[in-house]
This record gives sequence, structure tokens and C-alpha cells, in this order.
Amino acid sequence: MKFMAQNWKQPVTSFVDWQCPECGDTLKEDRDNRQLLRSNKCKADQNHDAWEPEWIDGRFSTSLHCEKSCCGSMVCVGGRWRVQRYEDYDEHGLPFEDYSNWLTVDTVSPSVKLFETPIELPNEVERHLSRAFALYWNDKASCLNALRAALEASLSEQGVPKKFKTKKGKFQDAKLHQRIERFGKTNGTVAELLMAIKWLGNQGSHDFDAENTLADKVDSALTIMAVALFELYDPTKSEVQTLVKKINKSKG
Ligand SMILES: [Zn+2]
Repeated sequence: MKFMAQNWKQPVTSFVDWQCPECGDTLKEDRDNRQLLRSNKCKADQNHDAWEPEWIDGRFSTSLHCEKSCCGSMVCVGGRWRVQRYEDYDEHGLPFEDYSNWLTVDTVSPSVKLFETPIELPNEVERHLSRAFALYWNDKASCLNALRAALEASLSEQGVPKKFKTKKGKFQDAKLHQRIERFGKTNGTVAELLMAIKWLGNQGSHDFDAENTLADKVDSALTIMAVALFELYDPTKSEVQTLVKKINKSKG
């Protein structure tokens, strides 16, 4: 498996490693179908004396198709578009500047997976995960909530009870934190990953006004969830040690 959440960082200039929703093969953009529509404000600004290309913005739409000839599935993508200047060097080492189209996706139909999932994923976990994938593009906070629901479903599937017995012998609903701690008694490594997702989800629910921060938290939660699910349901493909090293390195 790959840390595919890194592929969803926005905005983008192209679509790299998007997975076909039907067969899992790679999707390729139909560049001839890409439409860039300028906003009304952008059209009005064009007569301004100080106008420059970086004032251009609007909406885009495009389509991606599955590269596997026997599949041929199509995915439609849309969102916001703006132009940005960049500097680079040509093959002779001479500097030059040009402009790129930067795309911020907010609509994907049908929904695509944001990371490769284990084949043996339980239905209930998969159901919540699919919701998280669909919500990712235009509602990051709800995406985090769906990831949290996938986490709860995964704990249930692992046999962690939803209710605990109190010292007085009564049953009460267990909090997610308690359930993860209970799970940690048998699988400490994965419990730590799940706890990290829980913290990211908690913080995400207080960050409605900080879209960039929230996006970073969702990307981290997706990466950790991908690793946790493989550790639970297909350990032969697990990259838990790689992730732990990566987290420790970034802290250092
Ligand atoms: Zn396909």
C-alpha cells in the first residue's frame, strides 16, 4: 500500500494516482474535456490597467477514465480554478517564468477511494469509509466524523464492547477513548494509531474557521487510518513501522 493521502493535497495542477472506483486501476484525465470557465468578476477585471494573469479565476470541470480497457469507467470532477505564476529553469539552466492552472476539487462523481483498502474489510467499516471518501472534497469536518464512525465500527468488529460495566454493576455507554484503551490491552500498536485519529477528529470539530488546518488534520487521519486498517485486516501489507518512523522523524 502507499501513503495515498498525500495525493489529495489541494490545489493540484494534474490528477496523480487517482484510483478507478470500479476496478482499482489508475485513472487518467481526458485533457480534451477539461473546461476552464472564468468568473464574472474575472471577466470584468480584465479591462483594468493593472490586470495580470494571476487575477484569473473561476470554475473547472473535467473527466477521468480508467486506463484498463476492459473497464473504461468514467469519473467527473469539478471545482474552483485559479492561475498562478511560477519560476523554473530550462534545460540550459536559464531561469524563466510561466503560469499554471491550479485546481481545487470540490465535486467528484462517482466517489473514488482516497487510499487502497484491505480486501477483507468488514462491510460496516467500509460503509463509513465510503462516506468519508465522498465527504472529503467539500466537507472536511463531516469527513472526520465519518472516519470516527469507521473507527467505532472497526472496534465493534474487533469485539470491543459498546457498553462497560461500572463498579456498581450497571452498564453504561463506553466513550470512544475508553473503547480504544480497552482495545490497547490486546493490540497496543494499532490502539495508538486509532487514538491519534480520535485526537485529530476531536480537534477537527473545533476548527470550522481554519480550512487549511482542518485539511491537514484530515490528510493525517486518512494516512493513519489506512495503515491501521491494513495492520488489522491485512498485516502482510502493513506499513505501520514506516509510518511510525515518519511521525518520529517529523517530530525530530
Ligand atoms: Zn477501472
